[in-house]
Amino acid sequence: MPSLNDIRSTFLDFFARNGHRVVESSPLVPRNDPTLMFTNSGMVQFKNCFTGVETRDYTRATTAQKCVRAGGKHNDLDNVGYTARHHTFFEMLGNFSFGDYFKAEAISFAWDLLTRDFDIPKDRLLVTVYHTDDEAATIWKKVAGLPEDRIIRIATKDNFWQMGPTGPCGPCTEIFFDHGDHIWGGPPGSANEDGDRFIEIWNNVFMQFEQFEDGSMRELEMQSIDTGMGLERIGALLQGKHDNYDTDLMRALIEASAHATHSDPDGAGKVHHRVIADHLRSTSFLIADGVMPSNEGRGYVLRRIMRRAMRHAHMLGAQDPVMYRLVPALVRQMGAAYPELPRAQALIEETLRLEETRFKQTLDRGLRLLDDELARLPEGGALPGEAAFRLYDTYGFPLDLTQDALREKGRAVDVAGFDAAMEEQRAKARASWAGSGETKDAAIWFDLAEQHGVTEFLGYDTEAAEGQI
Ligand code: ATP
Ligand code: MG
Ligand code: MG
Ligand code: MG
Repeated sequence: MPSLNDIRSTFLDFFARNGHRVVESSPLVPRNDPTLMFTNSGMVQFKNCFTGVETRDYTRATTAQKCVRAGGKHNDLDNVGYTARHHTFFEMLGNFSFGDYFKAEAISFAWDLLTRDFDIPKDRLLVTVYHTDDEAATIWKKVAGLPEDRIIRIATKDNFWQMGPTGPCGPCTEIFFDHGDHIWGGPPGSANEDGDRFIEIWNNVFMQFEQFEDGSMRELEMQSIDTGMGLERIGALLQGKHDNYDTDLMRALIEASAHATHSDPDGAGKVHHRVIADHLRSTSFLIADGVMPSNEGRGYVLRRIMRRAMRHAHMLGAQDPVMYRLVPALVRQMGAAYPELPRAQALIEETLRLEETRFKQTLDRGLRLLDDELARLPEGGALPGEAAFRLYDTYGFPLDLTQDALREKGRAVDVAGFDAAMEEQRAKARASWAGSGETKDAAIWFDLAEQHGVTEFLGYDTEAAEGQI
Protein backbone atom coordinates (compact mmCIF):
# COMPACT_ATOMS: atom_id res chain seq x y z
CA MET A 1 0.00 0.00 0.00
CA PRO A 2 1.56 3.33 -0.99
CA SER A 3 2.26 5.79 1.83
CA LEU A 4 1.42 9.47 1.49
CA ASN A 5 5.12 10.06 0.95
CA ASP A 6 5.10 7.54 -1.95
CA ILE A 7 2.01 9.12 -3.51
CA ARG A 8 3.52 12.60 -3.39
CA SER A 9 6.54 11.27 -5.31
CA THR A 10 4.43 9.39 -7.87
CA PHE A 11 2.54 12.58 -8.65
CA LEU A 12 5.62 14.76 -9.04
CA ASP A 13 7.44 12.07 -11.08
CA PHE A 14 4.47 11.72 -13.43
CA PHE A 15 4.46 15.40 -14.28
CA ALA A 16 8.27 15.66 -14.37
CA ARG A 17 8.16 12.86 -16.96
CA ASN A 18 5.70 14.98 -18.91
CA GLY A 19 7.93 18.01 -19.17
CA HIS A 20 7.10 19.81 -15.91
CA ARG A 21 9.66 21.50 -13.68
CA VAL A 22 9.41 20.26 -10.10
CA VAL A 23 9.20 23.43 -8.02
CA GLU A 24 9.40 23.59 -4.23
CA SER A 25 6.43 24.47 -2.08
CA SER A 26 6.35 28.17 -1.27
CA PRO A 27 6.03 29.27 2.38
CA LEU A 28 2.62 29.45 4.04
CA VAL A 29 2.97 33.20 4.37
CA PRO A 30 2.58 34.51 0.82
CA ARG A 31 5.42 36.84 -0.16
CA ASN A 32 4.37 40.40 -0.85
CA ASP A 33 0.70 39.54 -1.09
CA PRO A 34 -1.42 41.44 1.43
CA THR A 35 -4.63 40.10 -0.16
CA LEU A 36 -4.07 36.64 1.28
CA MET A 37 -3.75 35.50 4.89
CA PHE A 38 -2.07 32.17 4.13
CA THR A 39 -1.15 30.22 1.03
CA ASN A 40 -4.39 28.36 0.32
CA SER A 41 -3.53 26.60 -2.94
CA GLY A 42 -0.75 25.64 -5.30
CA MET A 43 -1.28 28.56 -7.68
CA VAL A 44 -0.47 31.26 -5.14
CA GLN A 45 3.26 31.29 -5.82
CA PHE A 46 2.52 31.44 -9.57
CA LYS A 47 -0.10 34.16 -9.44
CA ASN A 48 1.97 36.61 -11.47
CA CYS A 49 2.89 33.96 -14.04
CA PHE A 50 -0.78 33.64 -14.98
CA THR A 51 -1.29 37.37 -15.37
CA GLY A 52 1.89 37.71 -17.43
CA VAL A 53 3.53 40.11 -14.96
CA GLU A 54 6.27 37.54 -14.37
CA THR A 55 7.93 35.03 -16.68
CA ARG A 56 10.08 32.08 -15.65
CA ASP A 57 12.40 29.83 -17.56
CA TYR A 58 9.74 27.12 -17.70
CA THR A 59 6.11 27.02 -18.84
CA ARG A 60 5.12 23.80 -17.07
CA ALA A 61 5.52 23.25 -13.36
CA THR A 62 4.48 20.74 -10.71
CA THR A 63 4.44 21.13 -6.92
CA ALA A 64 3.39 19.67 -3.60
CA GLN A 65 2.26 22.84 -1.89
CA LYS A 66 1.73 23.41 1.83
CA CYS A 67 -1.70 24.99 2.29
CA VAL A 68 -3.60 26.41 5.24
CA ARG A 69 -7.32 27.13 5.04
CA ALA A 70 -8.22 28.71 8.33
CA GLY A 71 -9.45 32.15 7.36
CA GLY A 72 -10.42 34.28 4.39
CA LYS A 73 -12.21 33.03 1.31
CA HIS A 74 -11.40 29.36 1.82
CA ASN A 75 -11.88 28.58 5.52
CA ASP A 76 -12.19 24.99 6.68
CA LEU A 77 -11.53 25.47 10.40
CA ASP A 78 -15.06 24.52 11.38
CA ASN A 79 -15.06 21.44 9.17
CA VAL A 80 -12.07 19.84 10.86
CA GLY A 81 -12.88 16.82 12.96
CA TYR A 82 -16.37 16.61 11.52
CA THR A 83 -15.95 15.84 7.81
CA ALA A 84 -13.89 13.01 6.39
CA ARG A 85 -12.10 15.28 3.96
CA HIS A 86 -11.10 18.63 5.50
CA HIS A 87 -7.94 19.79 7.23
CA THR A 88 -6.73 23.25 8.15
CA PHE A 89 -3.30 22.19 6.88
CA PHE A 90 -3.02 19.95 3.86
CA GLU A 91 -0.77 19.33 0.89
CA MET A 92 -2.04 20.27 -2.54
CA LEU A 93 -0.49 18.42 -5.46
CA GLY A 94 -0.61 20.46 -8.62
CA ASN A 95 0.43 20.78 -12.24
CA PHE A 96 0.56 24.15 -13.98
CA SER A 97 0.80 25.44 -17.50
CA PHE A 98 1.65 29.07 -18.12
CA GLY A 99 0.34 29.74 -21.61
CA ASP A 100 1.54 26.24 -22.61
CA TYR A 101 -1.07 23.45 -22.75
CA PHE A 102 -4.76 23.97 -22.04
CA LYS A 103 -7.97 22.01 -21.46
CA ALA A 104 -7.42 18.93 -23.63
CA GLU A 105 -3.94 18.11 -22.36
CA ALA A 106 -4.80 18.90 -18.74
CA ILE A 107 -7.76 16.52 -18.81
CA SER A 108 -5.68 13.80 -20.51
CA PHE A 109 -2.91 14.09 -17.93
CA ALA A 110 -5.39 13.89 -15.07
CA TRP A 111 -7.20 10.89 -16.51
CA ASP A 112 -3.97 9.02 -17.29
CA LEU A 113 -2.51 9.56 -13.84
CA LEU A 114 -5.69 8.52 -12.04
CA THR A 115 -6.65 5.51 -14.11
CA ARG A 116 -3.23 4.20 -15.18
CA ASP A 117 -0.56 5.15 -12.64
CA PHE A 118 -2.94 5.14 -9.68
CA ASP A 119 -5.11 2.39 -11.19
CA ILE A 120 -8.41 3.82 -9.95
CA PRO A 121 -11.45 2.02 -11.44
CA LYS A 122 -12.95 4.26 -14.14
CA ASP A 123 -16.53 3.57 -13.18
CA ARG A 124 -16.05 5.10 -9.72
CA LEU A 125 -15.06 8.48 -11.14
CA LEU A 126 -17.33 11.33 -12.18
CA VAL A 127 -16.69 14.95 -13.05
CA THR A 128 -18.27 18.36 -12.94
CA VAL A 129 -17.85 21.18 -15.46
CA TYR A 130 -18.93 24.81 -15.42
CA HIS A 131 -22.42 24.94 -16.92
CA THR A 132 -21.39 26.91 -20.00
CA ASP A 133 -18.21 24.93 -20.65
CA ASP A 134 -19.28 22.62 -23.50
CA GLU A 135 -15.68 22.31 -24.58
CA ALA A 136 -14.61 20.67 -21.31
CA ALA A 137 -17.63 18.33 -21.39
CA THR A 138 -16.77 17.26 -24.95
CA ILE A 139 -13.14 16.61 -24.00
CA TRP A 140 -14.21 14.45 -21.05
CA LYS A 141 -16.40 12.35 -23.34
CA LYS A 142 -13.59 11.93 -25.82
CA VAL A 143 -10.64 11.39 -23.47
CA ALA A 144 -12.31 9.39 -20.72
CA GLY A 145 -15.36 8.02 -22.50
CA LEU A 146 -17.49 9.25 -19.62
CA PRO A 147 -21.24 9.01 -20.24
CA GLU A 148 -23.34 12.17 -20.13
CA ASP A 149 -24.75 11.41 -16.67
CA ARG A 150 -21.29 11.35 -15.12
CA ILE A 151 -20.42 14.81 -16.45
CA ILE A 152 -22.37 17.09 -14.20
CA ARG A 153 -22.90 20.72 -15.15
CA ILE A 154 -22.67 23.15 -12.25
CA ALA A 155 -23.66 26.81 -12.43
CA THR A 156 -22.43 27.94 -9.02
CA LYS A 157 -19.09 29.38 -7.93
CA ASP A 158 -18.04 25.82 -7.01
CA ASN A 159 -17.01 25.52 -10.65
CA PHE A 160 -15.55 28.96 -11.03
CA TRP A 161 -12.36 29.03 -8.99
CA GLN A 162 -10.94 32.15 -7.35
CA MET A 163 -7.92 32.39 -5.08
CA GLY A 164 -9.39 35.32 -3.15
CA PRO A 165 -11.34 38.49 -3.82
CA THR A 166 -8.88 39.48 -6.56
CA GLY A 167 -6.45 37.67 -8.86
CA PRO A 168 -6.45 35.14 -11.67
CA CYS A 169 -9.49 32.88 -11.91
CA GLY A 170 -11.52 30.79 -14.27
CA PRO A 171 -14.02 27.98 -14.79
CA CYS A 172 -12.97 24.59 -13.54
CA THR A 173 -13.65 20.91 -13.86
CA GLU A 174 -13.58 18.78 -10.73
CA ILE A 175 -13.05 15.06 -10.38
CA PHE A 176 -14.99 13.11 -7.75
CA PHE A 177 -14.67 9.58 -6.44
CA ASP A 178 -17.76 7.61 -5.47
CA HIS A 179 -17.04 5.74 -2.23
CA GLY A 180 -20.24 3.73 -2.57
CA ASP A 181 -23.83 3.81 -1.43
CA HIS A 182 -23.07 2.60 2.10
CA ILE A 183 -21.98 6.20 2.79
CA TRP A 184 -24.48 9.03 3.01
CA GLY A 185 -24.39 11.79 0.42
CA GLY A 186 -25.33 12.63 -3.15
CA PRO A 187 -23.41 13.68 -6.26
CA PRO A 188 -22.30 17.29 -6.71
CA GLY A 189 -25.18 19.59 -7.54
CA SER A 190 -27.69 17.40 -5.68
CA ALA A 191 -29.51 18.36 -2.49
CA ASN A 192 -27.34 16.21 -0.23
CA GLU A 193 -23.97 16.85 -1.88
CA ASP A 194 -22.38 17.75 1.44
CA GLY A 195 -22.38 14.13 2.49
CA ASP A 196 -19.14 12.20 2.31
CA ARG A 197 -20.07 9.62 -0.33
CA PHE A 198 -18.80 11.57 -3.35
CA ILE A 199 -15.44 13.06 -2.47
CA GLU A 200 -13.87 15.77 -4.59
CA ILE A 201 -10.29 14.75 -5.22
CA TRP A 202 -8.96 17.01 -7.95
CA ASN A 203 -9.77 20.41 -9.32
CA ASN A 204 -8.54 21.52 -12.75
CA VAL A 205 -8.87 25.26 -13.26
CA PHE A 206 -8.82 26.85 -16.69
CA MET A 207 -7.18 30.17 -15.93
CA GLN A 208 -8.65 32.68 -18.31
CA PHE A 209 -9.61 35.79 -16.31
CA GLU A 210 -8.33 38.22 -13.76
CA GLN A 211 -10.67 39.61 -11.12
CA PHE A 212 -10.18 43.16 -9.83
CA GLU A 213 -11.19 44.83 -6.61
CA ASP A 214 -13.92 46.94 -8.24
CA GLY A 215 -15.68 43.76 -9.37
CA SER A 216 -14.60 43.95 -12.99
CA MET A 217 -12.88 41.10 -14.80
CA ARG A 218 -10.53 41.04 -17.75
CA GLU A 219 -9.73 38.19 -20.08
CA LEU A 220 -6.09 37.11 -19.70
CA GLU A 221 -3.85 37.14 -22.75
CA MET A 222 -2.63 33.60 -22.18
CA GLN A 223 -4.72 30.56 -21.40
CA SER A 224 -3.22 28.64 -18.52
CA ILE A 225 -3.83 25.62 -16.31
CA ASP A 226 -3.83 25.39 -12.54
CA THR A 227 -4.74 22.15 -10.80
CA GLY A 228 -4.97 21.02 -7.21
CA MET A 229 -5.42 17.59 -5.69
CA GLY A 230 -5.45 17.01 -1.95
CA LEU A 231 -2.70 14.52 -1.07
CA GLU A 232 -4.64 13.32 1.97
CA ARG A 233 -7.77 12.69 -0.13
CA ILE A 234 -6.08 10.78 -2.93
CA GLY A 235 -4.09 9.03 -0.19
CA ALA A 236 -7.21 7.82 1.58
CA LEU A 237 -8.57 6.51 -1.70
CA LEU A 238 -5.40 4.67 -2.67
CA GLN A 239 -5.09 3.19 0.81
CA GLY A 240 -8.61 1.81 0.53
CA LYS A 241 -9.95 4.19 3.16
CA HIS A 242 -12.83 6.58 3.08
CA ASP A 243 -11.55 9.05 5.62
CA ASN A 244 -8.45 11.27 5.28
CA TYR A 245 -7.80 10.74 8.97
CA ASP A 246 -7.36 7.00 8.39
CA THR A 247 -4.34 7.47 6.12
CA ASP A 248 -0.96 6.28 7.40
CA LEU A 249 0.32 9.77 8.15
CA MET A 250 -2.73 11.15 9.95
CA ARG A 251 -3.18 7.88 11.78
CA ALA A 252 0.36 8.10 13.20
CA LEU A 253 -0.44 11.55 14.60
CA ILE A 254 -3.75 10.40 16.04
CA GLU A 255 -1.99 7.53 17.75
CA ALA A 256 0.63 9.90 19.16
CA SER A 257 -2.21 12.03 20.54
CA ALA A 258 -3.90 8.98 22.05
CA HIS A 259 -0.64 7.82 23.58
CA ALA A 260 0.16 11.22 25.11
CA THR A 261 -3.31 11.52 26.64
CA HIS A 262 -3.63 7.85 27.65
CA SER A 263 -6.86 7.53 25.72
CA ASP A 264 -8.41 5.40 23.03
CA PRO A 265 -7.83 6.80 19.52
CA ASP A 266 -11.22 5.49 18.38
CA GLY A 267 -13.25 5.87 21.55
CA ALA A 268 -15.46 8.71 22.74
CA GLY A 269 -12.62 11.19 22.22
CA LYS A 270 -12.24 10.37 18.53
CA VAL A 271 -13.13 13.87 17.30
CA HIS A 272 -10.66 15.42 19.75
CA HIS A 273 -7.81 13.30 18.39
CA ARG A 274 -8.69 14.27 14.82
CA VAL A 275 -8.70 17.95 15.66
CA ILE A 276 -5.44 17.66 17.59
CA ALA A 277 -3.71 15.80 14.74
CA ASP A 278 -4.87 18.41 12.26
CA HIS A 279 -4.05 21.44 14.39
CA LEU A 280 -0.64 20.02 15.23
CA ARG A 281 0.22 20.15 11.55
CA SER A 282 -1.08 23.66 10.90
CA THR A 283 0.49 25.18 13.99
CA SER A 284 3.86 23.50 13.47
CA PHE A 285 4.10 24.43 9.80
CA LEU A 286 3.00 28.01 10.48
CA ILE A 287 5.65 28.44 13.16
CA ALA A 288 8.26 26.86 10.87
CA ASP A 289 7.35 29.52 8.30
CA GLY A 290 7.86 32.36 10.74
CA VAL A 291 4.39 33.01 12.16
CA MET A 292 4.30 33.50 15.94
CA PRO A 293 1.19 33.55 18.14
CA SER A 294 -0.03 37.09 18.75
CA ASN A 295 -3.21 39.10 19.07
CA GLU A 296 -3.29 40.35 15.52
CA GLY A 297 -3.37 39.20 11.96
CA ARG A 298 -1.80 35.89 11.06
CA GLY A 299 -0.45 35.46 14.58
CA TYR A 300 -3.98 35.58 15.96
CA VAL A 301 -5.19 32.92 13.56
CA LEU A 302 -2.30 30.75 14.74
CA ARG A 303 -3.18 31.45 18.37
CA ARG A 304 -6.82 30.56 17.71
CA ILE A 305 -5.82 27.23 16.20
CA MET A 306 -3.43 26.49 19.09
CA ARG A 307 -6.02 27.32 21.73
CA ARG A 308 -8.67 25.25 20.03
CA ALA A 309 -6.30 22.29 20.00
CA MET A 310 -5.57 22.82 23.69
CA ARG A 311 -9.26 22.71 24.54
CA HIS A 312 -9.57 19.40 22.72
CA ALA A 313 -6.60 18.04 24.67
CA HIS A 314 -8.28 19.26 27.86
CA MET A 315 -11.43 17.38 26.88
CA LEU A 316 -9.33 14.23 26.74
CA GLY A 317 -8.41 14.83 30.35
CA ALA A 318 -4.90 16.18 29.77
CA GLN A 319 -3.70 18.08 32.83
CA ASP A 320 -0.33 19.11 31.41
CA PRO A 321 0.69 20.54 28.04
CA VAL A 322 0.34 17.92 25.31
CA MET A 323 0.76 19.51 21.91
CA TYR A 324 4.48 20.15 22.17
CA ARG A 325 5.05 16.48 22.97
CA LEU A 326 3.52 15.46 19.64
CA VAL A 327 5.96 17.43 17.49
CA PRO A 328 8.53 14.59 17.22
CA ALA A 329 5.85 12.32 15.71
CA LEU A 330 5.09 14.98 13.10
CA VAL A 331 8.78 15.47 12.31
CA ARG A 332 9.13 11.71 11.87
CA GLN A 333 6.26 11.66 9.38
CA MET A 334 6.98 14.81 7.39
CA GLY A 335 10.52 15.94 8.17
CA ALA A 336 12.09 14.31 5.13
CA ALA A 337 9.72 16.03 2.68
CA TYR A 338 9.80 19.36 4.55
CA PRO A 339 13.26 20.00 6.06
CA GLU A 340 12.05 23.31 7.54
CA LEU A 341 10.20 21.18 10.08
CA PRO A 342 13.20 19.51 11.76
CA ARG A 343 15.08 22.79 11.39
CA ALA A 344 12.44 24.62 13.41
CA GLN A 345 11.61 21.73 15.75
CA ALA A 346 13.02 23.33 18.91
CA LEU A 347 11.24 26.61 18.17
CA ILE A 348 7.94 24.85 17.47
CA GLU A 349 8.11 22.81 20.68
CA GLU A 350 9.06 25.78 22.81
CA THR A 351 6.38 28.04 21.32
CA LEU A 352 3.70 25.39 21.83
CA ARG A 353 4.82 24.59 25.36
CA LEU A 354 4.87 28.25 26.40
CA GLU A 355 1.48 29.01 24.86
CA GLU A 356 -0.02 25.88 26.42
CA THR A 357 1.40 26.65 29.85
CA ARG A 358 0.11 30.23 29.75
CA PHE A 359 -3.35 29.41 28.48
CA LYS A 360 -3.92 26.38 30.68
CA GLN A 361 -5.08 28.27 33.74
CA THR A 362 -7.52 30.57 32.04
CA LEU A 363 -8.72 27.64 29.91
CA ASP A 364 -9.75 25.68 33.00
CA ARG A 365 -11.43 28.68 34.60
CA GLY A 366 -13.13 29.75 31.40
CA LEU A 367 -14.52 26.27 30.75
CA ARG A 368 -15.97 26.21 34.26
CA LEU A 369 -17.60 29.57 33.65
CA LEU A 370 -18.98 28.27 30.37
CA ASP A 371 -20.51 25.26 32.15
CA ASP A 372 -22.08 27.52 34.77
CA GLU A 373 -23.56 29.75 32.10
CA LEU A 374 -24.96 26.76 30.23
CA ALA A 375 -26.53 25.35 33.38
CA ARG A 376 -28.45 28.59 33.78
CA LEU A 377 -29.78 28.63 30.23
CA PRO A 378 -33.06 27.13 29.12
CA GLU A 379 -32.68 23.83 27.26
CA GLY A 380 -31.01 24.37 23.89
CA GLY A 381 -30.75 28.14 24.41
CA ALA A 382 -27.94 30.08 22.75
CA LEU A 383 -25.11 31.43 24.90
CA PRO A 384 -25.64 35.18 25.38
CA GLY A 385 -23.15 37.29 23.46
CA GLU A 386 -22.09 39.01 26.62
CA ALA A 387 -20.96 35.74 28.20
CA ALA A 388 -19.03 34.82 25.06
CA PHE A 389 -17.42 38.24 25.20
CA ARG A 390 -16.41 37.78 28.84
CA LEU A 391 -14.79 34.48 27.89
CA TYR A 392 -12.92 36.29 25.14
CA ASP A 393 -11.92 39.33 27.12
CA THR A 394 -11.08 37.80 30.49
CA TYR A 395 -10.17 34.22 29.67
CA GLY A 396 -8.64 34.61 26.23
CA PHE A 397 -11.24 32.40 24.50
CA PRO A 398 -11.39 33.25 20.80
CA LEU A 399 -15.04 33.29 19.70
CA ASP A 400 -14.55 30.24 17.50
CA LEU A 401 -13.18 28.25 20.46
CA THR A 402 -16.39 28.96 22.38
CA GLN A 403 -18.46 28.06 19.34
CA ASP A 404 -16.50 24.86 18.88
CA ALA A 405 -17.05 23.94 22.55
CA LEU A 406 -20.78 24.59 22.25
CA ARG A 407 -21.14 22.69 19.01
CA GLU A 408 -20.55 19.40 20.84
CA LYS A 409 -23.54 20.25 22.99
CA GLY A 410 -25.70 21.34 20.07
CA ARG A 411 -25.70 24.94 21.23
CA ALA A 412 -24.83 28.22 19.51
CA VAL A 413 -23.57 31.66 20.50
CA ASP A 414 -25.52 34.87 20.06
CA VAL A 415 -22.93 36.31 17.67
CA ALA A 416 -24.73 39.63 17.21
CA GLY A 417 -24.65 40.08 20.99
CA PHE A 418 -20.94 39.22 21.02
CA ASP A 419 -20.26 41.78 18.30
CA ALA A 420 -22.25 44.40 20.18
CA ALA A 421 -20.27 43.78 23.39
CA MET A 422 -17.04 44.02 21.41
CA GLU A 423 -18.18 47.26 19.81
CA GLU A 424 -19.12 48.69 23.18
CA GLN A 425 -15.64 47.97 24.49
CA ARG A 426 -14.07 49.57 21.43
CA ALA A 427 -16.19 52.67 21.90
CA LYS A 428 -15.02 52.87 25.51
CA ALA A 429 -11.39 52.48 24.48
CA ARG A 430 -11.89 55.17 21.86
CA ALA A 431 -13.38 57.53 24.45
CA SER A 432 -10.47 57.03 26.83
CA TRP A 433 -7.96 57.63 24.03
CA ALA A 434 -9.81 60.82 23.20
CA GLY A 435 -9.26 61.94 26.80
CA SER A 436 -5.54 61.29 26.54
CA GLY A 437 -4.98 64.18 24.14
CA GLU A 438 -4.01 61.91 21.26
CA THR A 439 -7.36 62.20 19.57
CA LYS A 440 -6.18 62.60 16.03
CA ASP A 441 -3.88 59.59 15.96
CA ALA A 442 -6.43 57.55 17.79
CA ALA A 443 -9.11 58.44 15.28
CA ILE A 444 -6.88 57.40 12.41
CA TRP A 445 -5.96 54.16 14.13
CA PHE A 446 -9.53 53.23 14.92
CA ASP A 447 -10.66 54.12 11.41
CA LEU A 448 -8.00 51.88 9.93
CA ALA A 449 -8.74 49.12 12.38
CA GLU A 450 -12.42 49.25 11.57
CA GLN A 451 -11.90 49.43 7.86
CA HIS A 452 -9.59 46.43 7.77
CA GLY A 453 -10.65 44.66 10.93
CA VAL A 454 -8.25 44.61 13.84
CA THR A 455 -7.12 41.16 12.93
CA GLU A 456 -6.15 42.18 9.41
CA PHE A 457 -4.67 45.50 10.32
CA LEU A 458 -1.07 45.25 11.55
CA GLY A 459 -1.35 41.66 10.49
CA TYR A 460 0.88 41.69 7.48
CA ASP A 461 4.15 41.72 9.19
CA THR A 462 5.69 40.55 5.94
CA GLU A 463 9.19 41.74 6.61
CA ALA A 464 9.39 40.00 9.94
CA ALA A 465 7.94 36.84 8.48
CA GLU A 466 10.26 36.83 5.50
CA GLY A 467 13.28 37.47 7.65
CA GLN A 468 12.80 34.02 9.11
CA ILE A 469 12.16 32.14 5.92
P1 ATP B 1 -14.32 21.01 -0.90
O1 ATP B 1 -15.46 21.37 -1.80
O2 ATP B 1 -14.23 19.54 -0.60
O3 ATP B 1 -14.25 21.88 0.33
P2 ATP B 1 -12.72 22.76 -2.48
O4 ATP B 1 -13.57 22.82 -3.71
O5 ATP B 1 -12.85 23.85 -1.50
O6 ATP B 1 -12.96 21.34 -1.72
P3 ATP B 1 -10.39 23.41 -4.08
O7 ATP B 1 -10.32 24.84 -3.71
O8 ATP B 1 -10.95 23.07 -5.40
O9 ATP B 1 -11.18 22.61 -2.90
O10 ATP B 1 -8.94 22.75 -3.86
C1 ATP B 1 -8.39 21.74 -4.69
C2 ATP B 1 -8.27 20.40 -3.98
O11 ATP B 1 -7.62 20.51 -2.71
C3 ATP B 1 -9.60 19.76 -3.65
O12 ATP B 1 -10.11 19.09 -4.77
C4 ATP B 1 -9.22 18.80 -2.53
O13 ATP B 1 -8.67 17.59 -3.03
C5 ATP B 1 -8.13 19.56 -1.79
N1 ATP B 1 -8.66 20.26 -0.61
C6 ATP B 1 -9.34 21.44 -0.58
N2 ATP B 1 -9.62 21.84 0.66
C7 ATP B 1 -9.08 20.89 1.48
C8 ATP B 1 -9.02 20.74 2.89
N3 ATP B 1 -9.52 21.64 3.71
N4 ATP B 1 -8.37 19.65 3.38
C9 ATP B 1 -7.84 18.72 2.56
N5 ATP B 1 -7.86 18.80 1.22
C10 ATP B 1 -8.47 19.88 0.68
MG1 MG C 1 -13.76 23.89 0.33
MG1 MG D 1 -15.51 21.87 -3.85
MG1 MG E 1 -12.92 22.45 -5.64
